[in-house]
Amino acid sequence: MRERDPGLPPASAGVHPGYNDGNKHRGRKPLKPAPFDYVRARSVEHAVELLGREGARVLAGGQSLIATLNMRLSHPSLLVDINEVADLDRIARRNGHIDIGALVRHAQAARAAEIAQAAPLVARALPHIGHPAIRNRGTIGGSVAFADPAAELPACLLALGGEVDIAGPAGRRTVKADDFFHGLFETALGPRDVLTAIRLPAAMRETRVGFAELARRHGDYAMVGLAAAARANGRSLSDVRLAFFGVGATPVRARQAEQALEAADVEAGVKALDRDLDPPDDVQATGAVKKYLAGVLLRRVARQLNEAPQ
Ligand SMILES: Cc1cc2nc3c(=O)[nH]c(=O)nc-3n(C[C@H](O)[C@H](O)[C@H](O)COP(=O)(O)OP(=O)(O)OC[C@H]3O[C@@H](n4cnc5c(N)ncnc54)[C@H](O)[C@@H]3O)c2cc1C
Repeated sequence: MRERDPGLPPASAGVHPGYNDGNKHRGRKPLKPAPFDYVRARSVEHAVELLGREGARVLAGGQSLIATLNMRLSHPSLLVDINEVADLDRIARRNGHIDIGALVRHAQAARAAEIAQAAPLVARALPHIGHPAIRNRGTIGGSVAFADPAAELPACLLALGGEVDIAGPAGRRTVKADDFFHGLFETALGPRDVLTAIRLPAAMRETRVGFAELARRHGDYAMVGLAAAARANGRSLSDVRLAFFGVGATPVRARQAEQALEAADVEAGVKALDRDLDPPDDVQATGAVKKYLAGVLLRRVARQLNEAPQ
């Protein structure tokens, strides 16, 4: 790849900038991705400006994007690398919330004491994401922006009732998790938007969280997973939020099961999943198997929600 001024017209019209770049590569086979230009953004505003070019895409950890390029499932004309934008890798606690910058790597988040204390649900979910090499590069913002329906972090964001900070051509805005996930790999992000941070309510003494997933091998995307949060009121639970993943186009709230857990009736919750969830068949399992597994996970997570934190 060669860094190019995006103000210039596409240089090589169909030739990969990193291939055929001078005589020494002439005659060799092209690289796997389709041709694209590459620019390092200097700031969030610069990234938004660069994204104004038709076919431009943000590059963060590259763990999902580069695979889609190599398989030619996507053909961006320009990659806008945000890895050197200052302040996007901050973790900050303020006003009862924890802000996690878009460029915080999964591994960095897993080591962060602030996340262990203020976002224990995220801390529980992180070890389930891929493998160490993926967690070293993959970012929190990339995971939420990519919005794979079987990914852990979008479900955690939804279960915690968090928010997403976005910078775009019309300025900055914040979108609630409940309004962020629109469809399969579709979110409230527009083509010129940069996700800058996610914000989660910091856990309090009465906060309870639960997390479980079933995957064929550790590190694989889940067949079915469940991220959950609640508030303990003596021996009962209120404000239960259950976000299943791997069961639809987006993470899915199981609202009737939430009510059943608030009424301390776990088995009614398992039955309610019949109405709350409608998982399609996929390569991992049939919808019927996924629904059954969702019930297994609900029982496990209900036990976690009823335990006092260590
Ligand atoms: C083998 C393998 C196994 C994996 N297993 C899991 C798993 O079990 N669970 C899981 O959740 N994930 C898994 N992943 C994906 C991993 O978590 C990725 O890191 C993550 O999905 C994307 O983050 P990224 O920083 O790499 O984003 P990139 O790959 O750089 O980008 C992904 C997409 O998001 C967009 N994007 C990225 N950042 C932003 C931003 N700040 N603003 C706007 N748009 C942005 C990009 O334009 C692109 O469309 C796996 C990946 C691999 C390769």
